[in-house]
Amino acid sequence: MQAVVFENYQRFPTLADVPVPEPGPDEVLLRVAGAGACHSDVSVYRHFEEGQPGAQKPPFVLGHETSGWAERLGDNVSGIDPGAAYLVYGPIGCGHCRACARGEETYCENAASLPYLAVGLGRDGGMAEYVTVPAHHLIPLGDADPVHAAPLADAGLTPYHAVKQALPHLAGGGRHALVIGLGGLGQIGVQILKALTGATVIATDLNAKARDLAERGGAVTITGGERQVEEVREITGGRGVDAAFDFVGTTGTIAAAASSMAPKGRLSVVGIAGGTHEFSFFSTPYESYVTNTYWGTVGDLWEVVDMYRAGQIRPELELFAMDDALDAYRRLEEGALAGRAVVLPDPD
Ligand code: NAD
Ligand code: ZN
Repeated sequence: MQAVVFENYQRFPTLADVPVPEPGPDEVLLRVAGAGACHSDVSVYRHFEEGQPGAQKPPFVLGHETSGWAERLGDNVSGIDPGAAYLVYGPIGCGHCRACARGEETYCENAASLPYLAVGLGRDGGMAEYVTVPAHHLIPLGDADPVHAAPLADAGLTPYHAVKQALPHLAGGGRHALVIGLGGLGQIGVQILKALTGATVIATDLNAKARDLAERGGAVTITGGERQVEEVREITGGRGVDAAFDFVGTTGTIAAAASSMAPKGRLSVVGIAGGTHEFSFFSTPYESYVTNTYWGTVGDLWEVVDMYRAGQIRPELELFAMDDALDAYRRLEEGALAGRAVVLPDPD
């Protein structure tokens, strides 16, 4: 079968012919419906070096945002219907520590001793016709469209987890949220904020098309750049935002988001551009928080699927055939996409 393979650090992936995998015990072979291209993959193949935190040893098939149909069950698997559509919960922890017991395999206490981080991160992922997945990582999609569901596995789950942590800050009238970076994650982040809170959602991106899309999703957009913090102050009557979400993560965007906060505000840095943040008593709004967040829990993903089925999340997609899968990554790197790039490995 054809697959997008990350062959070595700091090398653009290749389209290669690889064997169809065999499902091991407790695993399911999934025929892939949709595989989303996440900007984190760009960090995987462009920036990471061996031994660096987050780096995953090549080679492996990319794709940590996957949906598909159960094709074949490994030994001991029950509760999965062959032929039915599922979404893949990507993170894989040890399965028996405190964090894994809470469904937070992202924060597995034994992560350092595991051979891989997730389906598509260190272990073969969904940018292929077939992928094997631990059975308890499959979330049923029922009759919902599996192709449009693919981005939910990361571009939906990550902002959902971040927004859910910030909900106490956004409860009540007259609240404001700020979203910086309106790509795959940011657009769905806006939809989730609109569905879960009554807050005014202020959103910004360098790209005008991305801002238009966010406006259609109910956000108030600002152009960003030097006047960004001032514009946020104008919209919020000088107070600043109660919660900010930075889906870029450069030193500049973190600084803009941090300076836009109201006292007691919360900034979640989601983008992994590697920016740094300076703290000082006088330059920081009182009792405000700056935190990071990584992906989400399996329980969160069930709730994201519920929101999708209820029509509260509607991912915008740009579709690519398997033969053009590398173009999906090229366009992602150029910032030329008008929605999440999703590769369709199954020509039918
Ligand atoms: P994307 O490429 O689809 O979107 C990024 C958007 O940010 C683009 O629209 C781009 O125009 C915009 N942008 C870039 N620089 C900007 C700036 N200075 N100001 C305003 N807008 C700017 O990327 P994505 O797949 O949505 O991922 C977003 C980020 O989140 C990436 O860094 C990715 O690696 C990271 N990520 C983190 C997690 C996590 O768990 N923390 C999970 C998935 C992705
Ligand atoms: Zn664990």
